[in-house]
Amino acid sequence: MLHPVQAHIISIGTELTAGLTVDTNAAWLAKRLAAVGFVVDRHVTVSDNQPAISDVIISAAAHADIVLITGGLGPTADDLTREALAGAAERPLVLHRPSFDQLSAYFQKIERAMPDTNRRQAYMPEGADVIDNARGTAPGIRLQIGSTTVFALPGVPSEMRAMFRETVEPELRGRSAGSVIVTGTLRCFGMGEARLGEMIEDLMTPGCGPLVGVTAADAIISVHVTARGANSLEASAAADDTLAVLRDRLGSLIFAEKNETLQQAVATLLIERKNTVATAESCTGGLLAKKLTDVPGSSAYFLGGFVTYADEAKTSQLGISPEAIAQHGAVSEEVAALLAEACRSRLNADFGLATTGIAGPTGGSAEKPVGLVYIAVATKTETVTRRLLTNAELGRDVIRQRSCNAILNLLRRHLISDVSQRV
Ligand code: ATP
Ligand code: MG
Repeated sequence: MLHPVQAHIISIGTELTAGLTVDTNAAWLAKRLAAVGFVVDRHVTVSDNQPAISDVIISAAAHADIVLITGGLGPTADDLTREALAGAAERPLVLHRPSFDQLSAYFQKIERAMPDTNRRQAYMPEGADVIDNARGTAPGIRLQIGSTTVFALPGVPSEMRAMFRETVEPELRGRSAGSVIVTGTLRCFGMGEARLGEMIEDLMTPGCGPLVGVTAADAIISVHVTARGANSLEASAAADDTLAVLRDRLGSLIFAEKNETLQQAVATLLIERKNTVATAESCTGGLLAKKLTDVPGSSAYFLGGFVTYADEAKTSQLGISPEAIAQHGAVSEEVAALLAEACRSRLNADFGLATTGIAGPTGGSAEKPVGLVYIAVATKTETVTRRLLTNAELGRDVIRQRSCNAILNLLRRHLISDVSQRV
């Protein structure tokens, strides 16, 4: 078993801690580091405060094998990375002659006198290696603190990326001794995050094989697998083993692998089976039709949709009887079924999909609260309905998104002949 090489990322700048700039450097670096086999287990953001920067560098050097710092290398008084790094390593700052000459040459070339502030950029912690910056004035720094290698890169994203690609990445590739990370994702729908987590809890315990993690958005649960190996074959084999166990456990809750959306998964099944769909939407206001037509080539299966918001529209466009609406209410299992059947037969589709509910924030009652949505999928021979209840606090948009995801999933289960489980 290879010793995983731990990396920490430190982002420096008061504009980051104040929330004025979003830290894109850390996200970019984390992905690039993972690709060359490093485990990033800490991101720290710190303001332009020298003792605070020194503190986080000391802590990172005590825990990580490599540390990547971005920002604070410029010439101004708030650029304190050099000083903080020297402090953390307990080394003096000394003039680096080649950097000084390079800065002088740069200013000569643009026919300007070198400001005193720029001189600071030629001072480096004693014993540091300087990394050339072909795109700006701030040279990068490479410094060993104990067994930890610290790289300090500029904050400007284009300069940071270029320096990482050209200098840091090649060195790191050599260091991780060919260790490779392979990732896989299974996308699931139809169960809460906590319950799904319980089903795979044993696989999520750190330290036993590939890392398994779960994220959730709009009721879609993504299960991520990260495996490591000496080479891509070994890493893929470890990831595949875990993915196979997960596929077995989660079964038809899984609608896709990688980043595929529910509508893409449904589109693939509809096209395979040469089936068509029509929609009748009340509370989702066309969002379902939008999702179904988000997929290129949707004309192969999407025939058309009705947005029947008012009761009169349900009657005039889809022939829903006013008596049925009066008896059950527009938000009811019965009306959802009638809407699904009507749009299916009017457009002569294989499937009719309908939504009716209360997206809020107003319009709810004790009996029919905000967040209550009925969905229905009708075929020529049967109609299946579901009652969904989403926490009203999550808001209108989430209620509508989840309703669409739930009906897409109900249709998916139909298409794979599995409507047994609740959506
Ligand atoms: P400079 O020579 O330009 O001063 P520097 O190394 O001192 O370079 P900073 O002053 O910290 O870098 O940042 C320069 C600019 O780069 C910031 O104004 C910001 O727009 C951008 N930047 C810095 N850090 C980040 C980050 N972590 N994510 C995204 N953008 C960043
Ligand atoms: Mg700066």
